[in-house]
Amino acid sequence: MASGRSQEVPDFILSDSESDTGPANIRPRKRQRQNDWTYKEQFDSIKEAKDYIAIDNQFRINTRSRTSDGEKLYYRCKNSNECSSAVFLLLHCDNASVSLFANNEPHNHEDRKDFGLDPQLKLIIADHFSKGISKPNQILKVLRNEGHGEIEKSKLVNFLARLKKQKYGSASFNYGEFENWCEIHSTMPDAEDESYVVGHEVNCDADNDEDRVLRAFISTKRLITLAIHQKLICSDATYKLLWHGFPVLLVGGVDKDKEFHPYGISITKSEAAEDFEFIFRTLKSEVEKIGGTNFDPNILVADSADAITSGFGQAFGNIFQRVNCWSHVARKVDQRLSLIADEATRKEIREDIEILQLVRSEAAFLKASELWRRK
Ligand SMILES: [Zn+2]
Repeated sequence: MASGRSQEVPDFILSDSESDTGPANIRPRKRQRQNDWTYKEQFDSIKEAKDYIAIDNQFRINTRSRTSDGEKLYYRCKNSNECSSAVFLLLHCDNASVSLFANNEPHNHEDRKDFGLDPQLKLIIADHFSKGISKPNQILKVLRNEGHGEIEKSKLVNFLARLKKQKYGSASFNYGEFENWCEIHSTMPDAEDESYVVGHEVNCDADNDEDRVLRAFISTKRLITLAIHQKLICSDATYKLLWHGFPVLLVGGVDKDKEFHPYGISITKSEAAEDFEFIFRTLKSEVEKIGGTNFDPNILVADSADAITSGFGQAFGNIFQRVNCWSHVARKVDQRLSLIADEATRKEIREDIEILQLVRSEAAFLKASELWRRK
């Protein structure tokens, strides 16, 4: 590039429209230079277009202008004010699509950070990343195999860090971001199997962490539909699946074939009665909304936690049958039985309990367990 140009403030005189004189709030120019805009890409939405520019990380938004074709967002080089390289997005006024134009001016400064990665290569890397190839060495290997040659690992690492941030948000957790995320994903989708946030409660106003609230229930239309007409609900928390240290609570039902069907999952800060109440209430109102009929399950299967019982009562009323999940009970029984030294006795008691739990009615169970205790 000619050195005489390096001091020049880039201007954005457009060659594609007479009525468009370009952005007004730009400093007085020394010499008018025609930007030679060429069409580069088409996007379905403004978000896609902005993400594309963000991935490239070369431009920052500078100014905007309205034209008869639609609004134009101008971006200039974020690395140097003296650099003439620029792009703009045209937000078509007659549809949601967005076009990217570039003036094809090369950058006139040294590479910074991942600057040196070729834009096409960045797209290829982003594509691999989205398919789960996310480690620098994996990507280097794939690129080598694809014939892209050697690329500098430090540049790749920088670029991947930004991709990750873009995809997952910042690593630290933030109530506001979470609430935002919930709100964005709260609309019930048309597709049966697309997940959405059925309900959420976020409150971070309290000074101490204990009083802060974070709850979200996520499901799909198909899963909610499974709950219609069901009378039995199973619920449990898992600490095998954690999000920022918060447990994931699972709610579902069991069909006549003993198959478990989840109705949705939720993330809550704790496993308090209020958390379960929130989940059950949210599920109830959504099942009733989709099913058009009352949803009043009256059997709760869960471990013996009082919080689940009381949350269930709050949401569905207090007349229900509380069934302790047999596998939880069996594990507890085994723990206690391990205190009995004699194996034959241990086995006998275990078998008795197992037979006892198969009793068909509550009355028969009470009678049988009474007799068993006397044995
Ligand atoms: Zn530049």
